Amino acid sequence: MKLIIASHNQGKLKEFKQALKDYPFEMTSLSDYPELKPVPETGETFEENARLKAETIAELTNAYVLSDDSGLVVPSLNNAPGIYSARYAGENASDEDNNDKLLRELTSDLNREAYFVSCLVLAHPHKESLVVEGRVEGEILTKRQGKEGFGYDPLFYYPPLNKTFAELTLEEKNTVSHRSRAIEKLLEELPNWLGSDEL
Ligand code: IMP
Repeated sequence: MKLIIASHNQGKLKEFKQALKDYPFEMTSLSDYPELKPVPETGETFEENARLKAETIAELTNAYVLSDDSGLVVPSLNNAPGIYSARYAGENASDEDNNDKLLRELTSDLNREAYFVSCLVLAHPHKESLVVEGRVEGEILTKRQGKEGFGYDPLFYYPPLNKTFAELTLEEKNTVSHRSRAIEKLLEELPNWLGSDEL
């Protein structure tokens, strides 16, 4: 089954490839479709944005498309950065800029609990989309720790492993992350959703 992963984010692509490596998908990504214009993320929730991406690209390519809209939610910052996680410090912000802004905003009087959310949408032009969500809870440190991963990983401390996500190998992160939890749910529901579709 040809599956387009609707992302340019190399960190996410690596995670999807690792997590889905035992399944018979012929995985490609948006880099193989340079003619497709980026789908504007105009939704107000993770699900709306993930649907917009997956369903628009499925219509245009007539293929199965998997999109992920994910981000970091900090309840004491009114759920920021949330759906704006990738552009928290501005439209072309780097991971460094976004982490710096998070450290500035999360002053010492505020609760540092946070969670990552991943909403996955699997779309096909002739089917109702499959939607699943995964979450993982942790805390935001006052300085970066670790060099692995991407995004907010160096600041996201995960108490059960006593490490930040940037101190985990990809395999370790894939056993606990929001995205891997969402992928687990997706794989549970996949056989039923695919029904008699040919793989
Ligand atoms: P999206 O590509 O619009 O879904 O934005 C996702 C953004 O959320 C990324 O650019 C990161 O800033 C953040 N994010 C999502 N998942 C992770 C993760 O696993 N680790 C660290 N940051 C993440």
